[in-house]
Amino acid sequence: MPHKRKNRGRSKGQKGRGDLVQCSGCGELVPRDKAKKVTRRISVVDPALAKELRQKGAYISSRIETFYYCISCAIFRGLVKIRAREERKIKTPLR
Ligand SMILES: [Zn+2]
Repeated sequence: MPHKRKNRGRSKGQKGRGDLVQCSGCGELVPRDKAKKVTRRISVVDPALAKELRQKGAYISSRIETFYYCISCAIFRGLVKIRAREERKIKTPLR
């Protein structure tokens, strides 16, 4: 059977059914190996103020949050882009 993508849009391989994660954008349940995972550092203080405080020598803590996005939300947010037929087969890391 011809495939649109080399990995059929997932990173499942030969393993069977995996667990589902909820999309952070729309709440849809997507397979964990299909969803796009993004980790971001989130600061409580806003960036302009944080920069000023850091210059004064203050320590500002931040937490790391993990987001999972379904494919349509990932495209909407520009995490992944629609690529040409041959380009699709190349594996690229998510920024
Ligand atoms: Zn979504």
